[in-house]
Amino acid sequence: MLKMKHQQNKNIFPIFDKIAGRAEKEQFLNQKSKVIWMTGLSGSGKTTIAIELEKELLKRGFFTQVLDGDNVRAGINNNLGFSEEDRTENIRRIAEVAKLFLNGGIITINCFVSPTNAIRENAKKIIGATDFIEVFIDTPIEICEKRDVKGLYKKARAGEIKDFTGINAPFEAPTNATLVVETKNKTITQSVDDLLVAILPLITYKK
Ligand code: ADP
Repeated sequence: MLKMKHQQNKNIFPIFDKIAGRAEKEQFLNQKSKVIWMTGLSGSGKTTIAIELEKELLKRGFFTQVLDGDNVRAGINNNLGFSEEDRTENIRRIAEVAKLFLNGGIITINCFVSPTNAIRENAKKIIGATDFIEVFIDTPIEICEKRDVKGLYKKARAGEIKDFTGINAPFEAPTNATLVVETKNKTITQSVDDLLVAILPLITYKK
């Protein structure tokens, strides 16, 4: 695979500098595009919060796109599993996709477990530090396991899933996330409001 990458590179001529620029699109959409990158355990609340946050942003006139782990794994990344190598490739591809949206002036709300510092650092490197808003959905594993939205914790405990984050694969909690959102003892509305208040100043259009 790597070999092919090198062979192809010689014959590839990107035209990024010729297509209409991000600034023009941001002005058109009256917003600053950003990548809101949510990380957290399975069942922590990433998807739930993303769906509600998007509704709130659309209501306020922002143009957004939710990129969700399971959607991506059902499509563009349907050839990837959960080994460390595949998780890295999963995140690399999604970071590249988010960057395309970013350059199109669109705010993406990404929901990916993205369990390690190295994986998140790679996403940040691809997207660019100034546009990467890392949001840690900080829910203790006991709560996630109790919620067990998709029944995956039960399966992982029964040994039916290997490489399940938090049970038999690592989750490194981010230590310097831009924002931390708690969901323990909070309603969905409260968690979404906390995030919304912090996000709005970052995406509001300024010349
Ligand atoms: P993830 O996308 O991180 O795997 P989900 O969003 O699929 O997690 O599941 C989170 C579950 O937690 C949902 O069933 C949701 O209703 C519940 N939940 C309870 N309180 C909250 C909260 N404050 N914020 C987000 N989700 C919450």
